[in-house]
Amino acid sequence: MRCIYCQELLSEDTESNRRSSKEHIIPESLGGRSPAITKDCCVKCNSDLGTCIDGPFQEQFFVKFLQLSNSVKSKKGKFQKASFPVRAKGFEDEIGKVTFHDAGLTTKLLPIVRTTDHDEGSFEVSISGEIKEARNILGNIISKRFRRARSSEINPAILEEMLNSATEKAVSKEIREFSTSMELDLVSLEKGLAKIALGTAHLFLGPSWTFSDSSRSIRAVMDADAYDPRLIEAVVVSYHPEFRNSLVGETVWRLKEHFLAAIPLRDEIIVIVSIFGDPTLTRCYQISFPASPRGRNVALRIPLTTSDPVEWYKTTELLFIKRIVLQLAAQGVETAIIDAVLSRL
Ligand SMILES: [Zn+2]
Repeated sequence: MRCIYCQELLSEDTESNRRSSKEHIIPESLGGRSPAITKDCCVKCNSDLGTCIDGPFQEQFFVKFLQLSNSVKSKKGKFQKASFPVRAKGFEDEIGKVTFHDAGLTTKLLPIVRTTDHDEGSFEVSISGEIKEARNILGNIISKRFRRARSSEINPAILEEMLNSATEKAVSKEIREFSTSMELDLVSLEKGLAKIALGTAHLFLGPSWTFSDSSRSIRAVMDADAYDPRLIEAVVVSYHPEFRNSLVGETVWRLKEHFLAAIPLRDEIIVIVSIFGDPTLTRCYQISFPASPRGRNVALRIPLTTSDPVEWYKTTELLFIKRIVLQLAAQGVETAIIDAVLSRL
């Protein structure tokens, strides 16, 4: 067997970094689990792609936010935190941080410290932040400077007096509103999803697809160093969440699960990757491959609550396949393909 990523032969040598290793198709820390795994991955790719694709994909605030709001714990069993900087009217700098964690949302002001030295040896410190924290910072600055100048510790009573005097002079300014901007790194997002799509197609279609030319279009998105819409448009046919819903026959968008599928449409396969059931993390990839025989597994539903079982779906169970096709038609997939499929149903 070969590694599905580098396509090198897997080594039997237990010391080799080309030996087989267990790879989660959806990263484990996002709630990916068996049977969405493959052993067809070398140790080197498992580690390298973890760093250059899975890492940047999961580190995005948006993905972390979904991970947390779906109560998915990290591999180490901990809830991940997601923080982002905030600004406020009337302040030049970023003045704080908003953090999402399992207990909800907290806002923390970050102290901004500016020290100006004057010629005669005196110095001026301006600190903006919460009063208790500002006092601690000022205390540390004064003690350090005193120690440096006199080689002894400052008298605690004198320090306390200086801090009280500074606190009295402090000006309070009310913050009425915070603002922030959330950035989405499209390159990391598409690379991460394409990697999941490659693993999904391998899971359902096997090596005859993975090592064929048909896998090139997904690999191209995975390997891209920059955001290239042409590479994405060459393989991604739909971003629509409704498409995914139509597969499982539901009208209500269901969170709390991942959904992977490879639906045969004559000589094409639609690979669906839906992470957390979120529209931003849902893609349909169209790849050329002769449709697989009826009766085989074509879809996998992975609830995020590990006590809920993972469910496989077979082609014959997709009674709503007609609806899928109609959805495709609604999304502008070529009429010829739609007609071909409809004629077979
Ligand atoms: Zn490899």
